[in-house]
Amino acid sequence: MTTPRILPSIDRLRQRPTVRALETEYGRTAVLAALRDVTGTLRRELTDPGRSPIEDGEQAATAIEQRTASHLATEFAPSLVPVINATGVIVHTNLGRAPLAESAARRVTQLAAGYTNLEYDLAAGRRGSRNVHAERLLSRVTGASTAVVVNNNAAAVLLVLAALAQGREAIISRGELVEIGGGFRIPDVMRQSGALVREVGTTNKTRTADYAAAISDRTALILRVHRSNFRIEGFTERPPLDELVALGQRFELPVVEDLGSGNLLDDQTPDGLDEPPVAASIAAGAAVCCFSGDKLLGGPQAGIIVGAEEPLSRIRTHPLMRALRVDKMTYAALEATLLEYARGRARTTVPVARMLTATAEDIGTRAAALAERLAGHTVFEADVVDGVSTVGGGGAPGSALPTRLVRLTPRDASAANLTVKLRGLRPPIVARIENDRVVLDLRTVLPEQHDQLTAALTDLA
Ligand SMILES: *Cc1c(COP(=O)(O)O)cnc(C)c1O
Repeated sequence: MTTPRILPSIDRLRQRPTVRALETEYGRTAVLAALRDVTGTLRRELTDPGRSPIEDGEQAATAIEQRTASHLATEFAPSLVPVINATGVIVHTNLGRAPLAESAARRVTQLAAGYTNLEYDLAAGRRGSRNVHAERLLSRVTGASTAVVVNNNAAAVLLVLAALAQGREAIISRGELVEIGGGFRIPDVMRQSGALVREVGTTNKTRTADYAAAISDRTALILRVHRSNFRIEGFTERPPLDELVALGQRFELPVVEDLGSGNLLDDQTPDGLDEPPVAASIAAGAAVCCFSGDKLLGGPQAGIIVGAEEPLSRIRTHPLMRALRVDKMTYAALEATLLEYARGRARTTVPVARMLTATAEDIGTRAAALAERLAGHTVFEADVVDGVSTVGGGGAPGSALPTRLVRLTPRDASAANLTVKLRGLRPPIVARIENDRVVLDLRTVLPEQHDQLTAALTDLA
């Protein structure tokens, strides 16, 4: 008869080679805790006759070893893992937005584990400023005099307003009081900065005269916010930026523009992509522009502030700057990404830019090859159909990039069931459902993941 007495002691277990190997991998404390946990569970199971097939001490020890190993593997598994984005949404907020360019990832690896001159002036041999990093490149690619980098664009908006409009009014059109996503609203961010929100115009129409009528001695600046994630169609109007700049100049007020996405592609922008280039806003005379580092720009999470010397020196020296600054890894990735733009080759080397400009024909060729490899699959039938990819991540609202999709029609299970299976793979594949079928958009599948994707789908049972 089996009794809990056959259970080996913790000390005996720890002498076994497998347990020793676990201690090397996970450390003594974690292994001890796991052994006690697993042994306790097994003891309870053994008091329930007929439930456990364990007959002797060796069997018990083996069972404990196996359970401890799998318990620790689960506990120590990283929570953040790579996934294959087959949704066709390029800047997918839930999937971590922009994948970095190879050069950017390499630069992070080179700098992350060592010391750097992050805040050290190597020529002078004394303390320097971290703000110099990426500054020259940002000026080059945007045409702005100077730049500051913070943690994300929401932080950039907060800091700009805190530094330039605290206790005074920021004039903004009612058509631009946007919710960024996840419940974050521009008017709330504005209020947190201590600026007073002075709304003008209506949802669909705001004219230069509306801004002019709101200007008083309380006014600090005119704020323009790009409608990154929605479109107003039909009977609409908003003044061109240069008109607002001219108005601002009459009253010596800076115009600040929150561009959201940070389009640096300029003339290479695909048709119909409604994302104003940063350089155009600077050229039109905006005193300050801010945008994300990890939306269309395709770099690390960051908020980038570019503009004229005077407002930026106030921004740089504001106390919040310390709370919102970025680390060496962000600078490393950002500099390398910007370098791709400065060299004029971002379109082929920065994944977001490459995905944005990929043609339906190119994607169709890859899709056809994948569908062919999947012919006769036991779980689903695969074919290729037309579809659309989107920019996503609060960029280019209403943009529809023509693409070709690999369509998977499950033979038995539902499409929802198949997507669960795909997400259970390692790496997980995230796909879309369209008309009760699963569709894979290869636009957002990185070339280096293509073989992994093919193999995972081929092996799916
Ligand atoms: C996305 C966005 C933000 C916020 O940027 P994060 O980098 O996500 O903090 C702010 N303003 C606009 C217009 C945006 O599109």
